[in-house]
Amino acid sequence: MASLTLEKINKRFGATRVIEEVSLDIKDGEFVVFVGPSGCGKSTLLRLIAGLESITHGDLMIDGQRVNDLTPPERGIGMVFQSYALYPHMSVYDNIAFGLKLAKSEKQTVDERVRRTAKILQLDGLLDRLPKALSGGQRQRVAIGRAMAREPKILLFDEPLSNLDAALRVQTRNEIAHLHERLGSTMIYVTHDQVEAMTLADRIVVLNDGYVEQTGSPRELYEQPASRFVAGFIGSPK
Ligand code: ADP
Ligand code: MG
Repeated sequence: MASLTLEKINKRFGATRVIEEVSLDIKDGEFVVFVGPSGCGKSTLLRLIAGLESITHGDLMIDGQRVNDLTPPERGIGMVFQSYALYPHMSVYDNIAFGLKLAKSEKQTVDERVRRTAKILQLDGLLDRLPKALSGGQRQRVAIGRAMAREPKILLFDEPLSNLDAALRVQTRNEIAHLHERLGSTMIYVTHDQVEAMTLADRIVVLNDGYVEQTGSPRELYEQPASRFVAGFIGSPK
């Protein structure tokens, strides 16, 4: 588990400002959901946190330590993307083990972690299969397993359910909620789906055009939206 602090984070691509003065304190073990319309900067903000994009200015701290200049693996963050890009020629076992092997973990550690991860995600019976022999939901769980296996302090999810059909979305969403209960790790989850945000979040951050419009618990945002924009997103009239 780890806390995360964003201090006046800004991101520009050339002359385009994509993230503006975003400040947030995320507690150890908190489940934070970023919502907002397409193009408002949700993925960029996650990528800045993960270290996949460089911060233009502002500071990012993990457990009080500035991490702006650390590489993604050095930050102890795992990330699950929207399109679960599994390695098609590798078994479920090898897909989950991939990051651990890259980190040159001992064979026995790799094996223990892969089996523990597979158990948590109910993939134990599928370790020898290739991705093409899995359902969409199973593939997405393997992608989650791959991010989890290194036991990151912080897990980031970028619209992880958007390629699943409605029934699988609900099931996988519940699995992610259980995962958070069991692991207690800090999670940041991006979605444009209000129901996902309302069900999963300890706290919701509403983004609009690169800045934070409002943050609060699902209930606070529902009962006291600060603007029409937030109300439109969270679903209560204002
Ligand atoms: P969201 O995930 O909320 O849909 P993104 O973070 O993907 O939004 O994008 C926010 C804005 O930043 C968009 O206008 C997008 O075109 C722009 N953007 C994202 N990545 C890049 C990039 N690598 N170069 C230039 N512009 C980018
Ligand atoms: Mg996005």
